[in-house]
Amino acid sequence: MTPYLAFWIVLAAAGGLLSLWLLVTLWRERDARTHLASSESRFRELVEAAADLIFRTDAEGRFAYVNPAVQEALGLPEGDLLGRSFLEVVRADYRDQARRFYDDQRVQGISNTYCEFPVVPRGEQELWVGQRVQLLTENGHFAGLQAVARNITERKRLQEAIEREREQLRQIVTHAPVAMAMLDREGRHVAHSARWLRYVGTDDPSVVGRTLEDVWPGMPDKYRAVFARALAGEVVSDPEDALVREDGTEVFLRWTLHPWRVADGTVAGVVLAVQSIDVLVRARQAALEASRLKSEFVANMSHEIRTPMNGVIGMTRLLLDTGLTTEQREYAEVIDVSGRALLEIINDILDFSKIEAGKIDIETVEFDLRRAVREVLGSFAEAAQAKGLELLCLIRHDVPNALVGDPGRLRQVLNNLVGNAVKFTEKGEVVLRVTPDPAAGDVAVVRFEVRDTGLGIDSELRHRLFQSFVQADGSASRRYGGTGLGLAISKRLVSLMGGTIDVESHPGRGSTFWFTVRFERQSPEAAPLPVPPARLAGRRVLVVDDNATNRQILRQQLGYWGLRVTAVDSGPKAMATLLEAAESGPLFDLAILDMKMPEMDGLALGRAIKEHPSLAGVRLILLTSFGQRGHGAEAARIGIAAYLTKPVDEADLYDCLVEVLGEGPRKKAPHLVTRHSLRELRPRVAARILVAEDNEVNQKVAVRILEKLGYTVEVAEDGREALEACARTRYDAVLMDGQMPGMDGFEVTRRIRAREKDGERLPIVAMTASAMKGDRERCLEAGMDDYVTKPVTPETLEAALRRWVGAPAAPAEKAAASSPAAGDLLDEGVVSSLMSVDDDGTLMDEVVATFLRIAPVRLGAIRKAAKGNAPQLERAAHSFLGSCGNLGCRRMADLCARLEVLGRSGSTEGAPGLAAALEQEYAAVKPHLEALPGRHPKRMGTPSPK
Ligand code: ADP
Repeated sequence: MTPYLAFWIVLAAAGGLLSLWLLVTLWRERDARTHLASSESRFRELVEAAADLIFRTDAEGRFAYVNPAVQEALGLPEGDLLGRSFLEVVRADYRDQARRFYDDQRVQGISNTYCEFPVVPRGEQELWVGQRVQLLTENGHFAGLQAVARNITERKRLQEAIEREREQLRQIVTHAPVAMAMLDREGRHVAHSARWLRYVGTDDPSVVGRTLEDVWPGMPDKYRAVFARALAGEVVSDPEDALVREDGTEVFLRWTLHPWRVADGTVAGVVLAVQSIDVLVRARQAALEASRLKSEFVANMSHEIRTPMNGVIGMTRLLLDTGLTTEQREYAEVIDVSGRALLEIINDILDFSKIEAGKIDIETVEFDLRRAVREVLGSFAEAAQAKGLELLCLIRHDVPNALVGDPGRLRQVLNNLVGNAVKFTEKGEVVLRVTPDPAAGDVAVVRFEVRDTGLGIDSELRHRLFQSFVQADGSASRRYGGTGLGLAISKRLVSLMGGTIDVESHPGRGSTFWFTVRFERQSPEAAPLPVPPARLAGRRVLVVDDNATNRQILRQQLGYWGLRVTAVDSGPKAMATLLEAAESGPLFDLAILDMKMPEMDGLALGRAIKEHPSLAGVRLILLTSFGQRGHGAEAARIGIAAYLTKPVDEADLYDCLVEVLGEGPRKKAPHLVTRHSLRELRPRVAARILVAEDNEVNQKVAVRILEKLGYTVEVAEDGREALEACARTRYDAVLMDGQMPGMDGFEVTRRIRAREKDGERLPIVAMTASAMKGDRERCLEAGMDDYVTKPVTPETLEAALRRWVGAPAAPAEKAAASSPAAGDLLDEGVVSSLMSVDDDGTLMDEVVATFLRIAPVRLGAIRKAAKGNAPQLERAAHSFLGSCGNLGCRRMADLCARLEVLGRSGSTEGAPGLAAALEQEYAAVKPHLEALPGRHPKRMGTPSPK
């Protein structure tokens, strides 16, 4: 082989290899291209089928590729889109923004971004797209954009709606005429009204974006908690909030915090609205203050009014107890009635003002419930009788008696209800029922019910009845008088005493007012449980009364004591029942006769019974109404054993039964058992009282009342004198005026207490004129034991002294409220016993004549001795005492006894006063003595059987 050939062979081989390589390379290239094309077409298929909008632009922003989703969304074929700037489809107002956005992306070389634009398709509604945009580069140069976009129109609409709403809210908040702010969760202001700026105290025109704490650094902590609650979804508000500002001033606000929510329901913040109620609150405060001042003023007037009232009422009562001509008595009675009426009105008004001013408080003292009730009924007995009404009372036996509470306020409520019942009832009855309310533990809830058969109250008025100033129609209230405050006061008092008050009424048929009061029981030692007394058990008693309620009450009372009770409603029936029993037994031991009955009254019936031979052994008790003159004497003549005035006190009735049926402590019953003779049986104590009082009128009133009640009285003109008197003399009690010149009553009391030894305690009862809340505390703080309010009356003084001292040793008759009947001045028992042994009346005549003859002489001697001759005083008083006692001139005898005691002690201090009283007493009793029936010879009735 030639080199040439070899050269050609090598060349050919190389060429072949080259061609092979070329072939392989070409083949591989083609293969790669085919592969690329197929994968590209797969991608294209994917892109073309995608629901997302996919497009590409060239470097100038012109569409270089759009997938069908783009064409469909924009409503344009590919041909119309390719080559157009993509900005052309963006909504005109967004184009600049879109351009800037992509310029920024390009300039800053951010490879990936996201943005949202509205685009406007042809003829279609605009739609919103959210697109991810990628930069395309070629050889490091910007070559265009590639984007994947999604139709977000729905979401955007929702967002816009919310935004519109929020904007509206913002607008509302911004333009609200009140202070309002919209805060986000962090407390940043989203919006606020112009007024809001005033509240947070900034001069800035806007605080949007700033937090509440930022603009109000001194915000009190309590609002943080309130904000948190609102963020938790609660609506929080306060109708009246006192905000103390940093400078210490106070403003009153009303505010509300409302959570506001975003689309998914979560709380995004709070809207708060604040209103200043400063003006309102201050106006209200001013009104309240003015009303309080007014009430306080009126309550303070109490002091000024009561002092002269004390003089008027006290002195009139005393005047009425002296010997007056009929004309003088009439005038004095008018003063008395008017004075008391005026006092009642004043008391109502004062009480009302005190209640309004919150100055009333309730006492807690030990008291006797039955006694309190008795006192109330006693004071209406006369009024009821004058109208011909039955005034009845039933206290159930299981009502505890020894209670702790405020007897004064209880009496006040009872007085009002019983008073109204009597006032608004023209015929029929008024019944007070006292029953226990089932109560637990140491608390006794007692129910009081006052039922009348009067006018009744229509339902319209009934609902307003317990409001102040409410009265039935004007004409009725004019006819009946009154302030319209009584029930309003009662309601307050009852609620202060832990009870309730209400009324049931049927117009024309009457009303029933009832109330409950919560008391404490006294300790068991102080209040032994009542045991039904057995002494009377088994006795037969006939009750004769035309009034069904009274029959029922007597039946209950008598039945409780074990008596066997029969009740009838008329005299003839009583006679029939008694006669039947006399024939076939068992006999009646006793008959209780009501005085006032149609057909045959109690006296006529008593006479008939006593005149009937087979009934003479039946004992008789007559029940009469208040102060019917002459009944006592007449009853004694007939042979009636006892007469009691209605409403009959339970204790009196019991004692009376025991006396009349011969079970009592007295060996021999008096000829006629009366309330007074019964009370005499109860224990009494001797007592010396000091009255410390600077006002002359008040002094006189207190002294005379106490003397009449049977106490021995001394007077101290001022505090210093009182202190000295107490050091010198041992008194049983002191009545102490609070305000005295020099040393006042409080100071005197403190000093007395300071020098008392252990176990010693002089009872000191304050006499105050203002009766304001706090007075009582002041009295007790100073060491006083009790207090009475001026004007003092025999009743209040007696009640207070009974608590601390006991009943007086020689009780004078109660100062009579009206013209004294003979029975009040003369002891009917003594008189009737004199009469009973006086067959022809000559004895009586003689005794009286002698008495009338010697009296002026004896009185003269006493008057003279009283000026300084103690031994003579003792003698003169002693000898006159016997004469007075013989004739039953009890009050005179009482005064003589005191003069005698005084004389014996070697003193005449106070004697002239007592002597003068004795002379007045004589003047009063003289006409009654002169008129005694025994002075005109005539046969008297048989003495009561014994
Ligand atoms: P007043 O001082 O006028 O009696 P009250 O508050 O005690 O004031 O009574 C208010 C009104 O209620 C009376 O004026 C009367 O019209 C009516 N009222 C009270 N109690 C009775 C009653 N028992 N029967 C009929 N009406 C009564």
